[in-house]
Amino acid sequence: MQASSIVEFVRDIYRSNDFIPLHVPTFSGNEKKYVLETIDSTFVSSVGRYVDEFEKTVEGYTGSAKAVATVNGTAALHTALHMAGIVRGDLVITQALTFVATCNALHHMGAEPVFCDVSPVSLGLCPKSVENFLLEHAEINDKGCFHKKSRQRIKAVVPMHTFGHPVELNELISVCKKWHLILVEDAAESLGSFYKGQHTGTFGQFGVLSFNGNKVITTGGGGMVLCQSIEEGLHTKHVTTTAKVPHAYEFYHDEPGFNYRMPNLNAALGCAQMESLPDYLSHKRALAKHYQAFFEESDFKFVREPDYAQSNYWLNAVMCPDVESRNCLLKETNDAGVMTRPIWQLMHRLPMFKNALRNDLSQSEKIEARLVNLPSTPVVVAELRHK
Ligand SMILES: *Cc1c(COP(=O)(O)O)cnc(C)c1O
Repeated sequence: MQASSIVEFVRDIYRSNDFIPLHVPTFSGNEKKYVLETIDSTFVSSVGRYVDEFEKTVEGYTGSAKAVATVNGTAALHTALHMAGIVRGDLVITQALTFVATCNALHHMGAEPVFCDVSPVSLGLCPKSVENFLLEHAEINDKGCFHKKSRQRIKAVVPMHTFGHPVELNELISVCKKWHLILVEDAAESLGSFYKGQHTGTFGQFGVLSFNGNKVITTGGGGMVLCQSIEEGLHTKHVTTTAKVPHAYEFYHDEPGFNYRMPNLNAALGCAQMESLPDYLSHKRALAKHYQAFFEESDFKFVREPDYAQSNYWLNAVMCPDVESRNCLLKETNDAGVMTRPIWQLMHRLPMFKNALRNDLSQSEKIEARLVNLPSTPVVVAELRHK
């Protein structure tokens, strides 16, 4: 397959001869109305009705007991890990194939990542790789799970639902149960993705969403912690708001807190974006189908949602036959003004995580060398299906 035919195909979808970005937000609903309302009311900061409304809407949509809005997804991860009781020196198992935010949040806790491999089906954390690592390197005693050699506690598992494709959660949950590990889901990319009918981010003790500008919906910058109980949710909200005990004028804080609350201005944008989410998702799924049909007969393999899941198809992706064809595709599409992107470089190649413990990462390496992300902004492609 020629890169030029991919360029032509993408230009046809977006009906544009201009630069085509990878993923940009669209504001065609109540965004301006709601944001202006916050300015008119002067409630642009951490107090205001849109914050509560946005949290309620996401709670309802995801089916979580309580959702707590934060300034960004990394802050949400930091908060979730803190609430999960992770402390300095703990080891946390995650995937080498992820966006750096997952590991930055761990680093800020003083915890260290342990890199396991990903599944070729989900592109996310592989339960077998986690289990193999634990069987070889971990032991359980009455205080929990420990790394045999370093005697560090292995505290949690943080899978990431890559590009919106849910990981094999049932299998991962049984590994966590067996080894007494806490599950915290990095669901930053998977708003609108379901595993066997249940929304991602609601399986672990905590789940985390991101509303960065390039995500499925955006609040400018923003994130959310999904909590398993109302009690934990209220505590999480307390901690993200400097742990200030409510009082008309006294300043009293009863534990170390963060200043991570999402401003009302951003939440207003989020409320409007949530109204459009069902449309975005159906357009994204149609777009993915369209790409899938295009690559069907070629030696480029379009990344499909796993059979057990319904994915939001946040970023469409294709596996090239080899690294040469990947490099060629990246260069020719970008030169032609159609933005494509390689996947993130694996975390253990970055200077700050190069000494982290790791398992065999051969699937991650294969994906790193061959995967390309394609333009994924939701558009109506209905008429093109008949071509
Ligand atoms: C986007 C993203 C985050 C959070 O990013 P923010 O920009 O801080 O909102 C975390 N993890 C992954 C995997 C992401 O893609």
